[in-house]
Parts: sequence; structure tokens; C-alpha cells
Amino acid sequence: MEIPPRVRGMQDIFGEYQRYFTFLKKVARHEFRTNGFGRITTPILELKSLIEHSSGESSDIVKKELFDFTDKWGREVVLKPEGTPGVMRAYLESMREEPQPVYLYYIEPHFRYDRPQKGRYRQFHQVGAEIIGEEDPILDAKAMYTMQNILDGIGLKDSYTLKINSLWVPKEREKYLLELTSFFETRKHLLDETDLARLEKNPLRLLDSKNEDVKELLKIAPKMVDFLKKDSLEFYSKVKEYLDILGVKYEEDHTLVRGLDYYSHTVWEFVDGSGRTQDAFGGGGRYDGLAKSIGYKTEVPAVGFAFGAERLIEAMMDRGVKLKNKDQIHLYIMQLGDDAKKLSLPLNIEARRRGLNSLIGLGTPSIKVQLKKANKVGARFVLVIGIMEAKKWVCQLKDMEKGTQVEVPLSEVLDKVIAEVGESSLSFYHPTRDFIIEEPIIVVEEEVITSTVILP
Ligand code: AMP
Repeated sequence: MEIPPRVRGMQDIFGEYQRYFTFLKKVARHEFRTNGFGRITTPILELKSLIEHSSGESSDIVKKELFDFTDKWGREVVLKPEGTPGVMRAYLESMREEPQPVYLYYIEPHFRYDRPQKGRYRQFHQVGAEIIGEEDPILDAKAMYTMQNILDGIGLKDSYTLKINSLWVPKEREKYLLELTSFFETRKHLLDETDLARLEKNPLRLLDSKNEDVKELLKIAPKMVDFLKKDSLEFYSKVKEYLDILGVKYEEDHTLVRGLDYYSHTVWEFVDGSGRTQDAFGGGGRYDGLAKSIGYKTEVPAVGFAFGAERLIEAMMDRGVKLKNKDQIHLYIMQLGDDAKKLSLPLNIEARRRGLNSLIGLGTPSIKVQLKKANKVGARFVLVIGIMEAKKWVCQLKDMEKGTQVEVPLSEVLDKVIAEVGESSLSFYHPTRDFIIEEPIIVVEEEVITSTVILP
């Protein structure tokens, strides 16, 4: 029987790629936490109707890319294709009474039945955030500022361009859309199937067309910017003013519409400055109408964004962003024989207690095989306890960088290694000790129960 292969468009994430992903998550979490965002995890499965009513029935996501199926009860469900609908649903269910706006962020897998290619997968991850419950252009600017900080924080400073646009509000868009539609109605023969569907369902998406003829026509088509009204213009000007104050550089692109139906007012995209095909690192926008379109009684002002994690990881790798390996092994302990093994176990524990990352070669492989492994994991020192060494409580310490070897008493070897690798490379991270508070806090019928509380 053949081993069943990976499902098309899905990736295993491990090794170096995983280290970049961890780094991205650390930078993003730090940025979000220090700006008052709390983390949310919504279910992988959502009802299909939620996505249809939010992303929009004419969007590519709903029309072509849903991983949808009927569950055992006959409910139509989807693997979530994006984060915003689920977060808005959760907010409307549980967070209306909290102080507004509510700041939320997520780092989550999403699923789109897209044609797999570099930078485009069927399961991919998004680092995203939503600010819900307040309509203030400063929040739009703050969202872009947060994105910029994350990009700079992962080493992509100067590698991106921020494009912004305003889609105004649906009411103001109406007149423009009428004119745009009649412009393309007379040039229908130049549209392909996708664009014809767009013309019928959501002509605004024509601005996003990949068709060269349409791109040319757009140069002479009616411009959205010529139809704007005072309030929208004011909102948009304020966003730009706040971006200037925050030092966020942007380019205006009046053809930018984004692929989802729910945006109004500000939309933006951070694109790869090197002009690659899959060039969007991420984007966002304001979506005040989403709550109502999924069935809530009123509009709820909201703004949000999402980065594609794989796009960022691949950009970091392409640009040669080098990461320190926090898991670098300081010490690889090798042993030969049972006495040596017994000595090496407490030594391994003591090394960890003193902040050294150490690995121990267990099992019964030969010195040659163990050395190969030590090399592969990039150990700085190799400590060998053979049968003779075990008798004398000494070891052979190999410095893999300098290529030297000395005999050292076991009682002194850790001091020697620490002196060489330097105190600053030691790791004392200890989640149990750092996060658990042990205090008696729950009182039940006079009986004191010792409880542990895990801090967020
Ligand atoms: P969207 O939710 O469509 O606004 O997408 C936000 C970001 O997610 C995009 O700018 C991409 O960086 C990333 N993204 C979207 N679709 C995919 C995909 N199929 N594979 C990898 N990344 C994606």
C-alpha cells in the first residue's frame, strides 16, 4: 500500500520554515499585546450562510474557493476562508457589552479552494486583527500603523508599499456604479466570463480585473473619486492626515477595491515592493455594514486587516532575513556504556537548570553516529563520557567551532561551557514558573481549596 500523500495545496510546516513562522508570531503578538489587542480563536468551521452574507456571494471566495460540505445533520458548513466573519459573529454574540471599541487579533489557519502555486495555498495562515465598535478614522490609521510595525519588526522595512483607497459608503457608490455599469455595458464584448459576472453582480470588482483589455478600459472609465460626497471625503482626508502624523507612507490607488464585498470607506493593501506576482502581503479596510448584512439590527462600525503568514515568511527567506536559532544546542552529551549513561543523565538536567540547551545521545549508537547527529543539530560543544572517563569522573570536551578537545572534570565542565558560550545566550524561559500563581482563592463551604490560576 502506498503512503497517502499530502492533500493538494496543504503544507507541513517544520524545521526552518517553522522557525520563521514562530518569529513572525512573536513579533505580531508583541505588537498586538502592547497595543491593547486581545487574542481570539474562532472555530475552523462556520455556517456557510455566515460566509455568504459577509464575504459576499459575488466574491471569488464564495463563488469558487469555499471548502464547503454538508455535515451529518445536513447543515451546510465551510472551513473558514477568512477571519473577519467569525470574529464579527463572536463579537455580536458575546462582546457588545464590553467597553468599545473591542480590539481583537488572531493567528489562524484559513482555507480556500484556490489553484495552488507559490504563495497561494489551500490551507494558509493569516495574522489579522479587528477593531470593532467605534467609527473613527484614527482607528483605520492605527490599523495600518500596526501592520507597518509588524512588517518592520520582521525585517521587511523598505520592502513594501502601502496602497490606500476609499470605497466611500454604499449609498454614495450607487451613482458611480450606474455610470460604471453603463460604460461597460457598451463594451461587453471585451469582457471575459469572470468580468461579465462581475458586471452583473458587483461591477465594483471590475476595478480588480486581471484582464488587460479591462485594465486599459478602466483608464478611460468613470472614476470613483469624482463621485465622492463631503462626509466620505472628510473621513478619507482624516485617515491620510493621521497616517502622516504616524509616519506611515502610502500611495493612493483609486482602483484598489479588495476581493471582499463588505468594505466601505478606507481599504488598503501592503504589497511586496519587489513586484512579484503574489504580491500582497496583506490588506484591510473598514466594514461598518458587515454586522447588518449578517443579520444584526444595526450597523456596527469596524475596521480590520489580515496578513498572509506564508507570504511574509517567504519574503523574509527571499530577502535573507537571518534568524538566531534560539533552539541552538550548546552541548551535546555522548556516552559509551552504562556507567557513562548514568552520569550523563544528571549532567543533562543540571545543564538545563543552568540555562544551557543540551541534548543527550541516548540509545546505543556508536560514537561515529552520535557525532554525526551532534554536527547535524549544530551543537557548539560535544561532551564525551567513555568507559575510562566514567571511572575517573571526567569527560572529553570537544569545541566544535575551534576544533579542539580537552579533558575536563565533570564537576567543572558546565562552568567551562557557560564561560565559552556567554551568559547572554543562556535560556531561563520557564512558562510554568512564570505564569502560574499558586494561591488559595476559591472558598467553598468553609473549605479552602488551593487553586491555580493561569494568567492570560
Ligand atoms: P484577504 O483575506 O483575501 O484580504 O487576504 C489577506 C492576505 O492573505 C493576502 O494579502 C495574502 O497575503 C494572504 N492570502 C490570501 N489567500 C491566500 C492563499 N490562498 N494562500 C496564501 N496566502 C493567502
